[in-house]
Amino acid sequence: MTLELRCGDVVGGCDGVVAAESREEVLRLASAHAADAHGLTEIDASTRSALEAAIHPA
Ligand SMILES: [Zn+2]
Repeated sequence: MTLELRCGDVVGGCDGVVAAESREEVLRLASAHAADAHGLTEIDASTRSALEAAIHPA
């Protein structure tokens, strides 16, 4: 099953989307996107739970 995370669900106004076959990979891609697009090099616990909550089947 492909899982997807829309960055805009966490960071308003961003149209970035990452998709992968596992939650771990989605989170890894989302972290990379957050660093590239938003300068977020550190994902703190609350951001991480917001990201995890936003993961849904594609
Ligand atoms: Zn984004």
